[in-house]
Amino acid sequence: MRPLIFLLAVCLALPAHAEGFITRLLNKPVPGGVAVVDLGNPTQAPKVRYQGKPVLTVREDGQRWIAIVGIPLSVKPGTQQVEVEGAQRLGFQVGAKHYAEQRITIKNQQQVTPNAENLKRIERELAEQTRAYQQFSTRQPSNLLFDRPVNGPLSSPFGLRRFFNGEERNPHSGLDFAANRGTPIKAPAAGKVILIGDYFFNGKTVFLDHGQGLISMFCHLSEIDVKLGDEIPRGGHVGKVGATGRATGPHLHWNVSLNDVRVDPAIFIGAFKP
Ligand SMILES: [Zn+2]
Repeated sequence: MRPLIFLLAVCLALPAHAEGFITRLLNKPVPGGVAVVDLGNPTQAPKVRYQGKPVLTVREDGQRWIAIVGIPLSVKPGTQQVEVEGAQRLGFQVGAKHYAEQRITIKNQQQVTPNAENLKRIERELAEQTRAYQQFSTRQPSNLLFDRPVNGPLSSPFGLRRFFNGEERNPHSGLDFAANRGTPIKAPAAGKVILIGDYFFNGKTVFLDHGQGLISMFCHLSEIDVKLGDEIPRGGHVGKVGATGRATGPHLHWNVSLNDVRVDPAIFIGAFKP
């Protein structure tokens, strides 16, 4: 009898409907992670907001609608809510995640404690990049399981608490790949080029809009091979790996943003570590 009772208990614990592939892949509800919220099966795409920002919604397996919500690193474990237009708020639980520390030595002290002129430039560039992250196009992402943008091992993970020359700065907002200068960078999903820049910290940078607030940023490029407004197919060439901006050597820094929140890109390539 025991195994049968156990099986029954397991079945009762499952949700009323089977979780689809996207939910299993992306639902990592921790600070810096992603929450997948079930919206049921209304005929129209529900309009969802989290912390005032529009949220990506897709239809899973051609049936239920789900919201794919980016959770800021600053959120404390506990209950969070999304607003659904014309419906009740929906809650989701955020668990805890420990992020490691990293100490980095930078030779150029200006990149650790910038002077007034550089601070002005950094502020201006930050505003420009924030505006890009806040864009919300109506297109559907071509794929939510992303391809790796470069061939190369993962190096620095998302969320590391970083100390530059002993001073704590912003946590690591993306995922690094170790790759040689000149390694081609490919679009992990189809996207439109919505911003190109040569920034103080990020160096030569490309923003790709995959749709509905799902946006990639590629930094420290040696060469940008796309133009503003270009439509890049999945796997299309974006540029080449380099070490421009604040970088200790050639690598690709890749950010993924959802609802203007930078989340762990490892989730989207199936390499998330809890
Ligand atoms: Zn990085």
